[in-house]
Amino acid sequence: MKIFNSLTGKKETFKPKVKNQVSIYICGLTPYDDIHIGHARTFINFDVIVRFFKFTKYKVNYVRNITDVDDKIILRAKEDGISVLDLSKKYIEEMHHDFSSLGIEDPDQEPKVSDHINEIIAMIKSLEDKGYAYTKNDSDVYFDVQKYDDYGSLSNRSLDQISSSERIIKDLNKNHEADFVLWKTNTDGISWPSPWGEGRPGWHIECSAMSIKYLGEEFDIHGGGLDLKFPHHENEIAQAKCATQKNFASTWMHTGPLRIEDEKMSKSLKNFITVKEILNKFHPEVVRLFFLLTHYRNPISYSNDGLSNAKKILDRFYLAFNKKNISKEFSEDNSLIKDYELAMKDDFNTPKAIKILQSYIGNLEKTSDDNLNKFGSLKKILNSLGLFKDEPENYFKYGDLDIQENEIELLINERNRARENKDFGLADDIRTKLKAKGIVLEDLEGKTVWKKS
Ligand SMILES: [Zn+2]
Repeated sequence: MKIFNSLTGKKETFKPKVKNQVSIYICGLTPYDDIHIGHARTFINFDVIVRFFKFTKYKVNYVRNITDVDDKIILRAKEDGISVLDLSKKYIEEMHHDFSSLGIEDPDQEPKVSDHINEIIAMIKSLEDKGYAYTKNDSDVYFDVQKYDDYGSLSNRSLDQISSSERIIKDLNKNHEADFVLWKTNTDGISWPSPWGEGRPGWHIECSAMSIKYLGEEFDIHGGGLDLKFPHHENEIAQAKCATQKNFASTWMHTGPLRIEDEKMSKSLKNFITVKEILNKFHPEVVRLFFLLTHYRNPISYSNDGLSNAKKILDRFYLAFNKKNISKEFSEDNSLIKDYELAMKDDFNTPKAIKILQSYIGNLEKTSDDNLNKFGSLKKILNSLGLFKDEPENYFKYGDLDIQENEIELLINERNRARENKDFGLADDIRTKLKAKGIVLEDLEGKTVWKKS
């Protein structure tokens, strides 16, 4: 298997620490608002990566943290007049709900910052003892980037570049502008006692401390969205390597950015789309397939056209299975599985994998019923991507309707009576009327079924 390693900038043969086992840490969410489609992209991509490891019989240990102590949470909790942990609890529940709607599987561990303050303090203490952390005049505790020679190796920036490019207000307590906070001596909102006074952790230290706790000082894959590469992941590497003198994660993976109709998504541009909003319109598997049609490292432009295209592709799979009344016993087509695995083993090339499945179904559509067993491997692969998990009937009816379901049924009955009475004009009118509401009728062996167009 080959994976692009952000640390070396190269596609490399993946060599896990333990044969057939993989340890993965992905930076999770800061729960202070509903999750948006940018989050959906990142976590669907990593979900598919983890699923593929399992598909190829790896034993996976997948850790995804929750940053439940953070300035944004503290600010929002103040606005809402509730405690920091109550606010994060509320949005953690929302996040779990949205992830489950999107078919994102649970990680093996989901550690929260607020439960790991001791581990965080121990790591900062170890950095201080080794001379990598300092504090002046009871200030915050900082990491001293000049003490760590390899600082900037992940993001390919030298310390000189960092000082001139980062317009940080000069903090007189810092040795270097790029020094970052390990412990904030700030008691606003939420705080814990520490050797440096009451306060809370800086952002980056949590992931170094929690990944090491659950996966060890050296593990296989660390990942997240590209926006985390600098400074978050750069700082994580610095902290972990200096505290343990070990190599930390060997492969770093980053998912590409998401834009909305070629604009950056932001609250100020009012183009901020939540997962809940998009799931009102599109089936979760359509959203998933939309993301898988772009390679996980490439930028993706979110658009309704893109979603509709994904729906067309997925419709075709559901239709093919729906039309052929296939038995539950499937045999496997090893050549399809081999082609699929080859595509995915090349840095998780999902667009290529989907193309293989599309051309396979194209061939199956032309074949006789004798080959129905071949659907078995196709179903197995689609399922391993988190697709084709729904009943076709539910799939085609998914989403908000402009018309009540019982009204649709009444119109179908009326149309059937009209057809019995050879009043084809009326039957056609009813079909047209439903079509205007986004409902398409299909006449199958004496039964009429409807689906959303
Ligand atoms: Zn992190």
